[in-house]
Amino acid sequence: MRCEICGKKLVEEPLKIKVDGSIMFTCKECSKFGKIQREAPKPQRPGVSRSSRVTKRIQRPREPTEEVIENYRDIVRQAREKKEWSREELAEKIYEKASVIGRIESGKMVPDLKLAKKIEKLLNVVLIEKTDNDIRDEMGQSKLKGSTIGDIARIKRN
Ligand SMILES: [Zn+2]
Repeated sequence: MRCEICGKKLVEEPLKIKVDGSIMFTCKECSKFGKIQREAPKPQRPGVSRSSRVTKRIQRPREPTEEVIENYRDIVRQAREKKEWSREELAEKIYEKASVIGRIESGKMVPDLKLAKKIEKLLNVVLIEKTDNDIRDEMGQSKLKGSTIGDIARIKRN
């Protein structure tokens, strides 16, 4: 690696500088001819192109993230008690051990999405929320969101 201004062979890391809008890698002495660019530029100004676009993509994933809601334990327990099922009965219906239900209801275990979906269907509750807001306008998404809130409210009221 050589300094792009004076051509001196560089022993250390070259400095990234901006001269008249173009990026150059130079030695320490030549860096004063331009503006030193930080290693990770913060994309605060709009239109800084590449880096800001990358950041945007990270903040807005295309795929919605599904997460088990925080108060899953209360929802499972209350819904199960409403149906007057024992933990054993509920466990049997989802092909799990009663101890699994016990751990879920005591909050010692967060059910994975597969298990949560099984419980959702069986107890007619909502245990999973989608954390991505970007696609809420898509058909079905808003409906799903609405029923989520409704179901939680309904269970809480009872
Ligand atoms: Zn130089």
